[in-house]
Amino acid sequence: GDFPIEVDTLVVGSGPGGYVAAIRAAQLGQKVAIVEKDELGGVCLNVGCIPSKALISVGERFVQAQEADDMGIEVKDVKLDFSQAMKYKESVVNRLTGGVEGLLKGNKVEIIKGEAYFNDANTARVMNEDSAQTYKFKNAIIATGSRPVEIPGFAYSKRVLNSTGALSLEKLPKKLVVIGGGYIGTELGSAYANLGTEVTILEGGKDILLGFEKQMTAIVKKGLKKKDVEIVTEALAKGVEEKDDEVKVTYEVKGEEKTIEADYVLVTVGRRPNTDEIGLEGVGIEMTDRGLIKVDKQGRTNVPNIYAIGDVVEGPQLAHKASYEAKVAAEAISGEKSEVDYIAIPAVCFTSPELATVGLSEDQAKEEGYEVIAGKFPYAANGRALALGATEGFVKIVARKEDGLILGGQIVGANASDMISEFGIAIEAGMTLEDMAMTIHAHPTLGEIAMEAAEVALGKPIHM
Ligand code: FAD
Repeated sequence: GDFPIEVDTLVVGSGPGGYVAAIRAAQLGQKVAIVEKDELGGVCLNVGCIPSKALISVGERFVQAQEADDMGIEVKDVKLDFSQAMKYKESVVNRLTGGVEGLLKGNKVEIIKGEAYFNDANTARVMNEDSAQTYKFKNAIIATGSRPVEIPGFAYSKRVLNSTGALSLEKLPKKLVVIGGGYIGTELGSAYANLGTEVTILEGGKDILLGFEKQMTAIVKKGLKKKDVEIVTEALAKGVEEKDDEVKVTYEVKGEEKTIEADYVLVTVGRRPNTDEIGLEGVGIEMTDRGLIKVDKQGRTNVPNIYAIGDVVEGPQLAHKASYEAKVAAEAISGEKSEVDYIAIPAVCFTSPELATVGLSEDQAKEEGYEVIAGKFPYAANGRALALGATEGFVKIVARKEDGLILGGQIVGANASDMISEFGIAIEAGMTLEDMAMTIHAHPTLGEIAMEAAEVALGKPIHM
């Protein structure tokens, strides 16, 4: 065999879990190597969060250009050059992945190109086209992420797309069918609708975006409807017939079989963890029946020197959750007492307008036995929202009745994704309604809506 290379910490996978763990472990004095079989940055930077948001931004700018006339801006013949839009998306991705490479090198993390496979609890083999090399590690962090689930009857192909395919089309589809109205399907459906594609979303459940409150999703659905997006709920996708330049999708609604034709069908029905082909069984690492790796509050598996973070462990499959777990695991390996606390993981859906939530919703708080007090304040009563022409939406704050402790926040409206951080901090810091209401917010800003929602909850709003 080959001569093993020794490191303190071996990180497998370079997504927002892996690269953050590698950097933090290096900062804390470890000799770190990171293995990546594909592109640095993982799903998030290459085929997930970042390219989808680039495309969504193009769609929003395109719509804004078309709708600028009431601000007195006359834009004639607004056209979309889809291949330029895709180049723009590529340039954003390349800048960020280049940035990650620079950060890893700057922190003296060794970058290894290849696919890692665990031999035992202290060694892994990394293979690429021309070599195989064994690494001996004191600790390892598994951050191999997830991949799209395939459903029966819809094998991925040129016209049956997963999210990766939908983010690398060469031509703008005239018609697109999206199977699955979760946040990925809805975001991409919304983006393509903004770009001018005729979109139909087939959702198996009773509604799209089930993780968010009904009052909030109602506003997003109104926006989608305005763009002529058709949403079919309780639709069971049955199969697809693929022709040269189109697909015919068969689905069933309330016992009735229907078909719909489109250029492409995009399947976004969930993602499964990449835990099946990396030798974990041999090492004896415990997993759930869904193939997720079981870990403790420091990200440690049942094999005490091996950790796991991000999409391969329980919890929402989100980049910021992966990065958070990454820091905790890297610190735990370095002997610090860090532990995860999931009290405030934000979730965002980048539709138009955006949806965002953190902590508990009103219903969740009640289910957990809290006596709840909530306040809601509309965008339409905020000066900045009016100036922006973004009057659709509201902010809701949820607190414990006895003392006003902030338990959660929900936002639907422009810039919800950025505003939700204010609630994350409030929850982390144990702030109350009074604290939020008496924090001086700059005027005129959308942040004032959060302040006023707290005043509503306290029963003394100024502008309502
Ligand atoms: P990943 O990012 O999946 O990275 C894992 C890496 O490990 C990959 O690069 C893979 O090649 C590598 N790897 C796997 N096996 C091996 C091996 N054996 N050897 C070497 N390397 C290996 N999340 C958000 O928070 N916000 C969003 O807006 C958002 N938008 C999304 C949009 C889309 C279309 C998709 C698909 C996902 C989106 N997500 C979003 C989810 C987010 O991308 C994931 O939660 C996140 O990437 C998980 O990070 P991770 O580090 O666990 O794994």
